[in-house]
Amino acid sequence: MYDAVIIGAGHNGLVAAAYLAREGRSVLVLERSDHVGGAAVSERPWAGVDARLSRYSYLVSLFPRAIAAELGLAIELRRRSVSSYTPRPDGTGLLVRTTRPPNRHWADFQAMTEHVARVVFPTLTEPLVSRDALRARVGDDAIWDALVERPLGEVLARYFEDDFERGIVATDALIGTFAGLDDESLRQNRCFLYHVIGNGTGDWDVPVGGMGALTGALAGIAYGAGAEIKLGVEVTSIETDGVAAEILYEGGSVQARYVLCNAAPAVLASLLGEPAPDPRPEGAQLKLNMLLKRLPRLRDPSVDPFEAFAGTFHVNEAATQLALAYGQAQSGLVPELAPCEVYCHSLTDPSILGPELREAGAQTLTCFGLHMPARLFEREPSVAKAQAIASTLASLNSVLAEPIEDCLWIAPSGEPCLEARTPVELEAELGLPGGNIFHRDLLWPFAETEAEVGTWGVETPHANVFVCGAGARRGGGVSGIPGHNAAMAVLDG
Ligand SMILES: Cc1cc2nc3c(=O)[nH]c(=O)nc-3n(C[C@H](O)[C@H](O)[C@H](O)COP(=O)(O)OP(=O)(O)OC[C@H]3O[C@@H](n4cnc5c(N)ncnc54)[C@H](O)[C@@H]3O)c2cc1C
Repeated sequence: MYDAVIIGAGHNGLVAAAYLAREGRSVLVLERSDHVGGAAVSERPWAGVDARLSRYSYLVSLFPRAIAAELGLAIELRRRSVSSYTPRPDGTGLLVRTTRPPNRHWADFQAMTEHVARVVFPTLTEPLVSRDALRARVGDDAIWDALVERPLGEVLARYFEDDFERGIVATDALIGTFAGLDDESLRQNRCFLYHVIGNGTGDWDVPVGGMGALTGALAGIAYGAGAEIKLGVEVTSIETDGVAAEILYEGGSVQARYVLCNAAPAVLASLLGEPAPDPRPEGAQLKLNMLLKRLPRLRDPSVDPFEAFAGTFHVNEAATQLALAYGQAQSGLVPELAPCEVYCHSLTDPSILGPELREAGAQTLTCFGLHMPARLFEREPSVAKAQAIASTLASLNSVLAEPIEDCLWIAPSGEPCLEARTPVELEAELGLPGGNIFHRDLLWPFAETEAEVGTWGVETPHANVFVCGAGARRGGGVSGIPGHNAAMAVLDG
């Protein structure tokens, strides 16, 4: 019998495996696909083209330096020189440098989120405290109310009069989250919080070598500490009496004192034969990956594309455009002018390109389209996908001086280097329920019941089964936090 069986070799499963194996526990990781990493991987999407793209997740903010140091994770996270660039319809644009907020009210808003980040981030790897305790630690009721109690749209409207500025900041609340800024559900607030607290600053950095470098290093650490990792093994069910468990897969089974589930809570429920969570998780993004012959020329002549694409390039993401797209998607339509944001990994880290591509001036481009919920792609998946791609490319082209299609690298097959993933495809490929990139709607980073205070936020009704993936309470994103917290829950047990 193993001390722990971990279902899934996503980066969180690997972090949990590393912590437990280092403490001398016998650990087996079972992964259904033929590689480790889950949604944090590098792949060459086009045959014969030496571009190793971070195919899904791309930037890192939430991975605590303390976890990296404890595990001896040697990966460089490189700061981008530009935070963002946003073209406006009149042909001008707003370039925001990483070191300098563009104006006074932006600086004030940032000071507020940085205060919360400094207080909240260190708590993510500690046992949960109550809502009141965290509020007291933040120590400023106005800030707490603005970010945690009231719909985010209210504070954004107070600080940002300009539609585009408001939209730029608002996108942090809508990444992978289908919500309006004024929703009473406050899903947008929770998404925002996780996007601005990473490592106490909210900076989003580029993992040098790509996401695969990060996960490869974690797998090496787990393996080096003695964990076994088996690929191509899909777990089909779990039986547990709370003390020991049997984990079944095609053609076999294995026993363990503890089960740690890196797969989403909805997957865990089905493995335990329990009802699916209600409501069903739903993702809301279209992901495009491209390889370009060259960066496209911009309509705004005052900015160099090498600067504009070095940070997050916001396309039609003014607050009113976001609201319009949300309304259209809610009524079952692919947004007409799809709001999206574009990043160029290779400008900050060219090491993901082979020498030939580098010499030829090729660049990668990844595009994250908002307000593309799974429901749009369920009835006629290929028709809706074609429509979503067309709408996103048209949106991008509306701010360029030449069509992006003209800039695409052509693979040896003769196909342009462009791939797209809808939420429905992400579900099939990665097992993300409804294509939700965080496994489920993000949760507040504090205990919501008295019973949860002092726990690790990874517990289930079964005493020996823990969630060690993005669906844990302090989950979502490339953070390793749920993996760390689930390992701590086992070590405490
Ligand atoms: C398109 C996209 C873009 C994103 N961009 C970013 C970003 O830039 N920055 C960021 O921080 N986050 C981003 N995210 C979110 C982030 O990637 C995820 O939240 C994070 O990778 C989740 O990690 P995890 O280890 O918890 O789970 P996963 O990466 O989902 O891994 C779960 C693993 O479990 C395996 N598994 C599932 N079921 C079984 C089973 N029955 N048996 C065996 N194995 C099983 C899966 O194959 C998978 O390997 C993005 C996600 C997507 C999809």
